[in-house]
Amino acid sequence: MMKCSVHLDRDATGACFSCGRFVCPECKTSIGNQIYCNSCVETRLKTGSWPAKPVATGFNTSGTGSLANVPSEIKGWNWGGFLLTWIWGIGNNVWISLLALLSILPYVGWIAGLTMRIILGIKGNEWAWRSKKWDSIDHFKQVQRRWMWWGVIGLAAYVILIIAVIVLLFSLFMIASSLGIDKNTPWDELIPRF
Ligand SMILES: [Zn+2]
Ligand SMILES: [Zn+2]
Repeated sequence: MMKCSVHLDRDATGACFSCGRFVCPECKTSIGNQIYCNSCVETRLKTGSWPAKPVATGFNTSGTGSLANVPSEIKGWNWGGFLLTWIWGIGNNVWISLLALLSILPYVGWIAGLTMRIILGIKGNEWAWRSKKWDSIDHFKQVQRRWMWWGVIGLAAYVILIIAVIVLLFSLFMIASSLGIDKNTPWDELIPRF
């Protein structure tokens, strides 16, 4: 659990949207949907503008779960999560993605699988940002792009496999019919006799 940056013995309940410092309920002010620390609010009241954001790591609250501020730069569709579901989830500490394994259930499984896929596409970036510590926004984007390409490769391999199986079955069928074998041929006639 992260601690308040002012009261080191108290649990933080959020991070300042301006400077990224962790704050407890007493040290924060909510403006709109965002949380600010008292020091930033004070600066804002005195100078009329928010203090300049400290670069990269100072503002980076990734990996702190519900306390993390999700940067608007990373919002958008996550292809890695959509295509690779729980495999992507294990790599990104997004354990809820394991629900995609429900797709092995008979009959209704595919609905659960497809739903989870779409949810991971929509929420994947946010969840991955909250659950894992990233060096920077660029680092995050770079890794997620790599996941996307692995997803595309996986999808391509899957399609090729299905085509290969169809071609194989079709060839067997053609060979069988050229030998005069059909579904009425008794099994014992298919065993070669010497
Ligand atoms: Zn602040
Ligand atoms: Zn505090």
